[in-house]
Amino acid sequence: MAVLVTKECIGCGACEPVCPFGAIEMKDGKADITVACTQCGACIEVCPVGAIIREEEAKVELAIDKSAYKDVWVYIEVVEGKPKNVGLELLGEGRKLADAMGVKLAGVLIGDKVEGLSKDVFAAGADAVYLVEAPELAHYSTDGYTATFTDLIKTYKPSVILLGATNDGRDLGPRVACRVGTGLTADCTGLGIDEATGLVAWTRPAFGGNIMATILCPEHRPQMGTVRPSVFKRPEPDYSKKGEIIRVASKVKAADIRTKLVEIVRVCTVACNLEEAEIIVSGGRGLGKPENFCYIEDLATVLGGAVGASRAAVDAGWKPHMHQVGQTGKTVGPKIYFACGISGAIQHLAGMSSSDIIIAVNKDPDAPIFKMADYGIVGDLTEVLPILTEEFKKIKAG
Ligand SMILES: Cc1cc2nc3c(=O)[nH]c(=O)nc-3n(C[C@H](O)[C@H](O)[C@H](O)COP(=O)(O)OP(=O)(O)OC[C@H]3O[C@@H](n4cnc5c(N)ncnc54)[C@H](O)[C@@H]3O)c2cc1C
Repeated sequence: MAVLVTKECIGCGACEPVCPFGAIEMKDGKADITVACTQCGACIEVCPVGAIIREEEAKVELAIDKSAYKDVWVYIEVVEGKPKNVGLELLGEGRKLADAMGVKLAGVLIGDKVEGLSKDVFAAGADAVYLVEAPELAHYSTDGYTATFTDLIKTYKPSVILLGATNDGRDLGPRVACRVGTGLTADCTGLGIDEATGLVAWTRPAFGGNIMATILCPEHRPQMGTVRPSVFKRPEPDYSKKGEIIRVASKVKAADIRTKLVEIVRVCTVACNLEEAEIIVSGGRGLGKPENFCYIEDLATVLGGAVGASRAAVDAGWKPHMHQVGQTGKTVGPKIYFACGISGAIQHLAGMSSSDIIIAVNKDPDAPIFKMADYGIVGDLTEVLPILTEEFKKIKAG
């Protein structure tokens, strides 16, 4: 249960010094409760106008006017000056939601010198871009981006917000949801409109993937959710599309950001960038020993693809978890997915079934993976993969 400041706050500042955790700041003449709040209630006692209340008591006071919330927003995550695929994938789904709701679709671009990316956002289907640029926002920071996104929501009141379930999206989404007093459905695999209520129906696996739960957010706004990369296909870009850029001045100051980016250490090369890869070659327990991953890596290198692994291979310590594909790993959607020595357990399929073409290599002709595969090669992978690698090398050499 959160502690909230109502609009009755007169900005007297009486609450600020009594907070044992330094969790109250005065912002724009009002008290602002930060994430350091432990809900001890010390501030509630001292407020002379009763403007600090617990969320449960606040239901009546804070009942929101839902009709004021319109439009569908997609957070466009930018890394090294480029939009991540997941934001563009979500614009495709956001377009469907916005059309069904009869509202506009907007992308949210936060960063420094990112205006040029607006054309990609419009090409993926957005009607508008909310653009916040400042040197302090050049790199993602929890403090800077949370404050910026929260301000945007409070000012422009979107009805629905979609974010990628990436490291940054998983950090930002819940934090912003908490700040604006709404809920968030994490790791959705399906989005739709609930016919009875007109609300967004957020579908996600529950109880270890044994059931699919559909979640609604009836009482609060915006309705928020994260979706893993590659769950949806990126729409074909149409660069003839134009839209409106809504420039919003950043209120973030360098002193507001409690973390400092010291250095970027790259641990992920092309080989483990599974979410953006067009070709993935994955290996499973059928490799028999970790050294045999060289067959997977050789083929991936020739094809310029990434290296994936089943959970059995990861649990055996043959590959780090960042390579794992599946329900408890990454969800991928490449143009071509090679499953080598992988049986095709449901939890593995959950992470790769949206691949355009699946090619399975397995010595067991009855392996379940062949039911899902577009092409199957029955044979020992230690014999099949070197032949494939050599043939692709020849094709590349022309
Ligand atoms: C809650 C939960 C979450 C899970 N999440 C994931 C997940 O995210 N990702 C995931 O992958 N799994 C996940 N699992 C595990 C999953 O159920 C399977 O156990 C796992 O996918 C099996 O991995 P595998 O296919 O590599 O191994 P196996 O099932 O042992 O299959 C090995 C295959 O290799 C073939 N083979 C053997 N030798 C050769 C050879 N020389 N040449 C060619 N083929 C050969 C065999 O015929 C067999 O089909 C999860 C399980 C649970 C309960």
